Amino acid sequence: MFDYEAEANFLEGRTLLITGASDGIGKTCARTFARFGATSILLGRSQEKLEALYDELEEHYPGKTIIHPLDLSRAGPDDYSLLASSIEEQFGVLDLLLHNAALLGARTPIEHYPESDWQQLMAVNVNAAFFLTKALLPNLARSDRGRILFTSSSVGRVGRAYWGGYAVSKFAVEGLMQTLADELNATSKIRVNSINPGGTRTGMRQAAYPAEDPNTVPTPESLMPVYLYLLSEASNHIHGQALDVRDFDPERYR
Ligand code: NDP
Repeated sequence: MFDYEAEANFLEGRTLLITGASDGIGKTCARTFARFGATSILLGRSQEKLEALYDELEEHYPGKTIIHPLDLSRAGPDDYSLLASSIEEQFGVLDLLLHNAALLGARTPIEHYPESDWQQLMAVNVNAAFFLTKALLPNLARSDRGRILFTSSSVGRVGRAYWGGYAVSKFAVEGLMQTLADELNATSKIRVNSINPGGTRTGMRQAAYPAEDPNTVPTPESLMPVYLYLLSEASNHIHGQALDVRDFDPERYR
């Protein structure tokens, strides 16, 4: 397992946006990045969960957390351009866009897959990532170390029976990552990659594997060395890659 000792406060002065920050992996990212000095905009669906996290972070790292409740299944281009202009006004620049929010949806054969689940999954897992990326690219371009990190899954790389819309949405995320990375390759300092966290102890994992003992599954905290590395200057050589936390080796991309 990859280990990385990030420098104290290396995220001081950096502005990050995390989607799905109200729970699971996104929430652990919010806590971890705050510990290293980041200013974070935390986007999630539940205002109540975001407010609880805000209170917790505010106590330890005052003035560095902004919460942005937004239901990505309903949001449209206007919501995203409003967000982009308020980031521009308040910070001028965005250093990381972490696309982490996602829905799992039904796990059933395609033949029986509910149309409404399919549409909701595409709205949250794919369309929101596209709209948000498009709106925030100018803010990211102003950073000297811009990063866009998409969150994938092993079923977004090899299809698997009964994972339906979730698997397909993660293939789409990989396609968006590759296309954008190729476009920005020669013209921008922004680094674009996708990450597969691997099975992680969260509500989503429990919904997917209800009979599993959660204590046998790695915690979100165990992923953090890889996420921190990808935010550091040491990862400047990694671009356009489909990464796996469990098997991460930065030397492979030199
Ligand atoms: P959780 O279900 O624990 O958290 C999902 C987050 O996404 C929550 O903050 C939730 O907000 C947010 N979200 C869901 N729907 C919306 C919406 N409509 N609008 C805004 N926010 C929304 O998931 P994980 O932490 O497990 O997953 C994080 C990422 O990692 C996902 O992309 C997932 O696909 C991926 N992943 C996870 C694995 C695992 O084993 N856990 C394995 C492989 C990939 P709220 O709490 O407010 O509803």
